[in-house]
Amino acid sequence: GMNCRLHVLIELSVTDTNLGTQIRETLRATFKAGVTRPLEWRKHQLYQLARLAQNEADAICDALNKDLSKPRLEVLMAEVGTVVERATKSAEQLDAWAAPEHPDVPDWQKGWKPTLHKAPRGTALIISPWNYPFILNSQPLIGAIAAGCCAVLKPSEVSPHLSQLVTDLLPKYLDPSAYQIVNGAVPETTKLLELQWDHIFYTGNSRVARIITAAAAKHLTPLTLELGGKSPVLVDSAYDMSLAAKRILWGKCNNAGQICVAPDYILVPRSKQDEFVEGLKKAYKTFFPDGALGASHYGSIVNESHFNRLSSLLDRTKGERVTDVFVGRKDAARKRIEPTVIKNVKDDDPLLEEELFGPILPIVPVDSLDEALAFINARPHPLVLYAFTEDPNVKQRRALCLSLTAYLVSRKHLIVIDETQSGGLVFNDTFQQLAGMFHDLIFVPGVA
Ligand code: NAD
Repeated sequence: GMNCRLHVLIELSVTDTNLGTQIRETLRATFKAGVTRPLEWRKHQLYQLARLAQNEADAICDALNKDLSKPRLEVLMAEVGTVVERATKSAEQLDAWAAPEHPDVPDWQKGWKPTLHKAPRGTALIISPWNYPFILNSQPLIGAIAAGCCAVLKPSEVSPHLSQLVTDLLPKYLDPSAYQIVNGAVPETTKLLELQWDHIFYTGNSRVARIITAAAAKHLTPLTLELGGKSPVLVDSAYDMSLAAKRILWGKCNNAGQICVAPDYILVPRSKQDEFVEGLKKAYKTFFPDGALGASHYGSIVNESHFNRLSSLLDRTKGERVTDVFVGRKDAARKRIEPTVIKNVKDDDPLLEEELFGPILPIVPVDSLDEALAFINARPHPLVLYAFTEDPNVKQRRALCLSLTAYLVSRKHLIVIDETQSGGLVFNDTFQQLAGMFHDLIFVPGVA
């Protein structure tokens, strides 16, 4: 069914080497004609994308259930709701974003009244991955529409049902002279990358990001890269271990850990490790009273190669598996792996090499906050750092930190803020920072 249709699409684009060129020429002509310039037109396209998400929510849930057994609630919260919210908000804010600015200039230049106008770049190529495929196709598209650009989407071949659905729906909601979709895997993407684009937006892993960067360099194309990595969690000794455990496990269980910002490994005070593990067990029992493996609200691993990658990591770890609750069961037929906790993991463990991207939770015991910070700082800067601490001691570690914000957070907050570097820093929760709300009654104004 779905896979066959996608297969036909892929073959079509491989054999028709000009497909990418034709699409790009169509979009360039649209851009040149000024179709995407008027703010009202852009707002309409944004609301149309919000409508697509809202009206087709059931079909989106269904496709993601087929690709990833992604639970409906997770799809509504992290994909559909977020797209409705962001597309709507972008339409509402567009006038303000697009308004010309009057930069502050030296007195002698003031008479010139210099003005900064925001100009769209042209046609963007958007290449996206499989783990949150609806939002990760839509979000860069929202940016392109708002900016007044045309765009080509290249969704992931690893989540074929969602890619097929978006292929079917996009022309029903958005102007096909400005927004197009090309399906395919490496050969098709390689062909697209040979063409000159005005911007490339890539979300995925850092190995492929290097290929994308090299292709962009040939044409000096501006590039946005949204990549992954290992996001550490730091738990302070004074923090409530069972609360931290519950919030970390919740973040990790979404999409079976296949999240770019998933809590990857946990640094816990050595003396609190067992208490923390007890907290994980307690939370697990409330989340999955009958175990995660058969639960309808627990997702699958996307394909066999990722399933085998995770299984091999579990075989190779030198840490200690926590067994009485998380027995680490697997169901190869359904590609499911139970949340699996490994304690007493040391820094040379295979679990600490690459981004885990699955439901494995290694715990690294540490003897001090300084040791935890050194551990984090010895590795590449993470996408997110999660820190659980409510230290009430407001003494400054550095006198220089005396500012209003400094008084609002605790001393240990400041230490973490000052002494680490990460894309995002979240205190006392995981993954919630990216979630959206889905309301049945979100009002998408205007008439289609
Ligand atoms: P993937 O395998 O679907 O690949 C992503 C895209 O790259 C696909 O469209 C694919 O067709 C294309 N691609 C693959 N090989 C290619 C090649 N040789 N040349 C050109 N294009 C190629 O997805 P993935 O990379 O496994 O995605 C998971 C990664 O993405 C993780 O590292 C995750 O952390 C990261 N991620 C980041 C964010 C973020 O917003 N920062 C969000 C989600 C995922």
